[in-house]
Amino acid sequence: MRLIGLMGGTFDPIHFGHLRMAQELADALSADEVRFIPAAHPPLKASVTAANHRAEMVRLAIADNPKFRLDTRELERDGLSYTIDSLISLRKELGEEVALCLFMGSDAFLGLTSWQRWQSLLDYCHIVVAHRPNFSMKAENLQGPLKELWQQHAVSSCSELANKAAGGILMQAITALDISATQIRTAFKQQGSSRYLLPQNVIDYILMQRLYDTPGRKP
Ligand code: ATP
Repeated sequence: MRLIGLMGGTFDPIHFGHLRMAQELADALSADEVRFIPAAHPPLKASVTAANHRAEMVRLAIADNPKFRLDTRELERDGLSYTIDSLISLRKELGEEVALCLFMGSDAFLGLTSWQRWQSLLDYCHIVVAHRPNFSMKAENLQGPLKELWQQHAVSSCSELANKAAGGILMQAITALDISATQIRTAFKQQGSSRYLLPQNVIDYILMQRLYDTPGRKP
């Protein structure tokens, strides 16, 4: 069975935390490809940079990786960008004979019960949770509905995801990179350096488009 990783996010901007997570999870799972799916209108984030810029930054960041692919389905849809809708359309497009693995950091997983129709996500995909610095997640500390979800769906190895299309949750350790898009946006606003936190071609694009300039600041 083919295995496709799915990296959803705001990517405002994409950084090495995202890229390294995608690479390590793809390697661990022997994924055939990883699709980066920028959220056009993220339901849980107040104000974000225009979606076309965020998608372009993803395109630039992944251009040299043959396994990484930009998927713009959420930009082509009106209304809020719910992951469940993307999963339904991906399943329709790719059929049942492919394992879909939704990659997310532990911060995202800990907030999963605020996602639209979160109880249905595992009907369409597996969830692979990567450790993110400052969001420590131990299975025994999970609470309430998330704990129940974990107890019903947890698997302990990558190979258990490979021969089923959906329905498993795996926690996978990755190299901890304490990088966030918030930190990068702040650095640009304060004219600090973001070098080595994200690809240089994305930095060049941000500067050229003046994406994170403080309004009114002289060039
Ligand atoms: P912001 O700071 O604007 O909230 P962010 O850096 O958290 O953004 P998102 O685009 O919101 O980035 O994250 C997309 C996905 O990538 C989420 O599942 C998130 O958990 C994960 N992620 C982001 N940064 C890291 C990181 N440094 N390590 C592991 N996972 C990460």
